[in-house]
Amino acid sequence: MVNETLSSESFIEGRGTKYCRGCLGENLFSGLDLGELPIANELLKSADGNLDTYPLHLKVCAGCGLGQVADVVTPERIFRDYRYLSSMSSTFLQHAAEFVNQRIEEEVFASGDWVLEIASNDGYLLKNFIPFGITAIGIEPAENVAQVSKNLGIHTISEFFSSRLAKDLLAKHGYPKLIIANNVLAHVPDLIDFVKGLSVLCGAETRISIENPSLANILVGMQFDTIYHEHYSYLSATSMQNISNRHGLHLFKVEELAIHGGSNRYWLQIQNGRYPTDLSVKRIADFELEIHLFDSAEWDACATKVNGILEQFRNWLHTKRMEGNRVHGYGAAAKASTILNSIKIEPNSIISIADVSLEKQSRFMPPHGIKIVSPEELFEQNPTDIVIFPWNIKTEIVAFLQAHLGEQVRFWCAIPEMCRVYN
Ligand SMILES: [Zn+2]
Repeated sequence: MVNETLSSESFIEGRGTKYCRGCLGENLFSGLDLGELPIANELLKSADGNLDTYPLHLKVCAGCGLGQVADVVTPERIFRDYRYLSSMSSTFLQHAAEFVNQRIEEEVFASGDWVLEIASNDGYLLKNFIPFGITAIGIEPAENVAQVSKNLGIHTISEFFSSRLAKDLLAKHGYPKLIIANNVLAHVPDLIDFVKGLSVLCGAETRISIENPSLANILVGMQFDTIYHEHYSYLSATSMQNISNRHGLHLFKVEELAIHGGSNRYWLQIQNGRYPTDLSVKRIADFELEIHLFDSAEWDACATKVNGILEQFRNWLHTKRMEGNRVHGYGAAAKASTILNSIKIEPNSIISIADVSLEKQSRFMPPHGIKIVSPEELFEQNPTDIVIFPWNIKTEIVAFLQAHLGEQVRFWCAIPEMCRVYN
């Protein structure tokens, strides 16, 4: 049941639990209930500290195809002092440079054309437009991260994107040629206002690129560790098609990408725009129906499999410790928090977790305060086994660790099942 007369703001209390944040309908069913977990990017300041926990329950809208969790944390709390710098991963840097090169090859940028990136992070992507003399504007609410981008000479606005900001940008700069909103829609609690903002800025010549891991990755690829409180929405091609249509936009192409364990790149334009609708839109929407992505019985089966993976990981850790191995982790990211807090890990199962982020080092991962150390400290601790939590960049990480630790250390990923990773 959808009440079109109410704005999305009316539903903040029940958004993601009672009402769909995409279509405002009430056809949400339970996808995966992970119980009560701490906010994924919050770390302990001492080994015996405590963090508040909140329900983490993925629901799926049978009406529009959007996966979602409740808002338990405001974006201000997460993003004003965000610790994630995209430039820390060479995989992401390469992906961003390739994206820009592809756009330059296929599109003619005339004088006065400009590019907008929403959630431009530290400028890792927009900096690639500078050598071509193309005007680029970034929007990055985390002030500490925006500053890094400004230092590169990129015009960066430190605000959250909204329909109001979109109107300001349109009045000042006209329609952009290209809007990039990669890996951001999932983090937006007011998805409807965000899409309205995209619609405001979408002129006849504008293309919009939206990259995001697909909801299908959770159901088919068991990527349940990508569920966390700061990740409000889990997109599908079906949900993108629905929300675009409702706000005067049109999904005309979907590209399947390998990054982040399988992402979709959705291309939007105005309705009846200049690009023909590519066959990929129907093909991927059909695939989502074939795998029963919007079918609650299929999600019940997924929940059973997830419980099996958690039990397998818990048993593996127990056995490794009993055998006298020294198990460490790598990558104190949100994925690590979701899985370690979901399995109710036994104390001392993992000796430390290494991370390159200076801000994370010397903090502790909940629930039992696993110490976060620098990679150099990890090398000194003579690990026998290392669990790689950011499995989406495991190749890059294993190459780096093996260069320092040699062949005798074993590397593992727990998702989609416990398996050894070789370089
Ligand atoms: Zn919906």
